Amino acid sequence: MAASAFPLFPAGAIPAHLWLDGAFVPWHDATVHVTAMGAGAGVAVFEGIRAYGSGDGEALNVFRLHEHLERLLDSMTMMRMPLHHSADDLAAATIELLRRNEARGDTYIRPVAYYSGLEHNSFGDTLGAPPSLLIWNRPTGTQLLTERGKHVSISSWTRIADNQMPPRIKAMSNYQNNRLAQLDARVSGYDDTIMLTATGKVAEAPGACVFLVRRGEVITPSVTSGILESITRDAIIRLCRERLGLTVIEREVDRTELYVADEIFCCGTAAEVTPVLSVDRIAARAGGMGPVTRQLDRLYHDVVRRIDEGYAEWRTEVERA
Ligand SMILES: *Cc1c(COP(=O)(O)O)cnc(C)c1O
Repeated sequence: MAASAFPLFPAGAIPAHLWLDGAFVPWHDATVHVTAMGAGAGVAVFEGIRAYGSGDGEALNVFRLHEHLERLLDSMTMMRMPLHHSADDLAAATIELLRRNEARGDTYIRPVAYYSGLEHNSFGDTLGAPPSLLIWNRPTGTQLLTERGKHVSISSWTRIADNQMPPRIKAMSNYQNNRLAQLDARVSGYDDTIMLTATGKVAEAPGACVFLVRRGEVITPSVTSGILESITRDAIIRLCRERLGLTVIEREVDRTELYVADEIFCCGTAAEVTPVLSVDRIAARAGGMGPVTRQLDRLYHDVVRRIDEGYAEWRTEVERA
């Protein structure tokens, strides 16, 4: 079992600063009082964004920065958090943070909107109150262009639903659902898991959307199948259609379709493109990383690093200081 073969954050330098409510604050000064945690716990939405070094090493390319920040604002709206920064303001703050921290190589960026103030003693106190906004970055690793793959189970834990804890909100608290499912799978000897909706349709893996390839078509659960509206998923759909000329179908997906798929892979900012080698110990028919997955691994790698000049609107370039 290769639980965390690729840590998101390799041991290494902590950046000098983070951005907190409009100011650049020394990393170690950005603390929350212990008594605030009771009121603030769980009331937080976030984004995970990656910036990749360009092919020539001259710049960092933040992948789909604006789409991520728009989704943060969407998450805040759905959580009844007043918006007090625009996506443009947050994009400018992110770029300035990367410059100040002299981010060089592949970097992970985490914006968070949360309540931590001592004045918020109950959930009601947060009504109409602007949350704190935080952006931090750290060096990260990448799995793109490596031989890899996961053996996954189908979880007995059901994916949360829109009328309970909406998966469309990128909320910290939603991750308890993923966490229970993932740890359960690991205890049972799997690398990871895929969750089903309450009606038994495929939803997603913890923090990553699911695709399968069958009879030459690419299929992925629709945005009403208990998934987060993943920005990587959108990029993969477009690369499949526009670069590989493949038919992509967004619809409800049955568990047993995964058993007879030629290829299965997951995608997301953290997961990038992750091949799934088996589901419930039934091997995907391609055996190893299949041909479509391999082409997407290469294409995604080349686009995020601007080796492939296409999709320029997906990259915000931050030149080295
Ligand atoms: C962030 C996330 C994803 C991946 O979304 P991207 O926009 O591709 O990073 C998938 N599922 C969940 C639950 C997530 O929180």
